[in-house]
Amino acid sequence: MCKRLIFIQVIFILFLSGCATVSVRESLPTYSINGAVYYSLIPLCESKGINWEYDTFTRVIVLRKGASRINLKVGDDLVLVNQRAIILNHPVDIYEGAVAVPAKFKEQIVDVLFKTEITPSQRVSTFPISRKIRKIVVDAGHGGNDPGAIGRTGLREKDVNLDIAKRLALLLKSEGVNVVMTRSTDRFIPLGARVEITNKSKANLFVSIHSNANRTRSMNGFEVYYVAPTLNDAKRALVAAKEGNLDLEGSLFASRSLELRAMLWDMIYAYDRAESIQLAKNICRSVGSNMNVKVIGVKDARYEVLRGSRIPAVLVEVGFVSNYNEERMLKNGFYRQKIAESIMDGLSDYAQELAMAEADKK
Ligand SMILES: [Zn+2]
Repeated sequence: MCKRLIFIQVIFILFLSGCATVSVRESLPTYSINGAVYYSLIPLCESKGINWEYDTFTRVIVLRKGASRINLKVGDDLVLVNQRAIILNHPVDIYEGAVAVPAKFKEQIVDVLFKTEITPSQRVSTFPISRKIRKIVVDAGHGGNDPGAIGRTGLREKDVNLDIAKRLALLLKSEGVNVVMTRSTDRFIPLGARVEITNKSKANLFVSIHSNANRTRSMNGFEVYYVAPTLNDAKRALVAAKEGNLDLEGSLFASRSLELRAMLWDMIYAYDRAESIQLAKNICRSVGSNMNVKVIGVKDARYEVLRGSRIPAVLVEVGFVSNYNEERMLKNGFYRQKIAESIMDGLSDYAQELAMAEADKK
């Protein structure tokens, strides 16, 4: 799915730029930029089981596998391979989130350093097998002309959300879980479309990634909202939404607050309160034990799920971009990876509990 998306994205860009051609080598997407052959970095890493970190702010990419470490920088043709500098002659490039590396990097560095290719069948999945969790929707909040919250030094919520959502999607896929992303690029997706994507996907869980903001700059921490069917009457729920009884993130950005209200309002996905709460708790627990971050905890969005598919749903607020320290941390790719991994652990624990409950019933 991810590979295909990147591939489609590449084709789309080529249409726009008209300067390159697409071909597929060894089933990895390649393309030509100014006459040089390039590979898409993420599929390349996936095929070799290499862990990658991409910091969208410093544009530095770090690849790790075993004791090996490679540092690259977008726009630069110098790479550090285990501290040794190598010149590629063509710079590392990027298109809307898809990092591209010159063929020389693959053939003379990656292929030599990491000889074993990992095929999907060789991957060992540790994600608990539960009949109830086969497919997960990962929803990156905001996008396109809707930046979401903006931090003091310019960090945009939409970018943080998308990056963490992509990392989470990759982690899930590497464990054999089917993933549907409501968006995998920087584009605006109306709530209705997110709902439709989720409904069509027939997924079992919905995880929305957002970043927080508050007028009180000192506010910080991680929190997870679940949608609880406490208001059974749709009319009552609508009145409550209009009256603004849903006090979620403060009102630093009025439109944003409205958006989130609508998001939760329209987060039709949850119906099973207990399962959503359990999932939210599992995510908070793993974040609390994996990371040195304040865990605000699980919160009730107090909304009846109104229509559409009914699956456990949570909205994860990964931190406050309005907080100086958290904005700084959220800019760091390693930190965002840690968040994605912690959410992944929470999902895994939740699946484990479901699997155990299923086993007990047998
Ligand atoms: Zn948001």
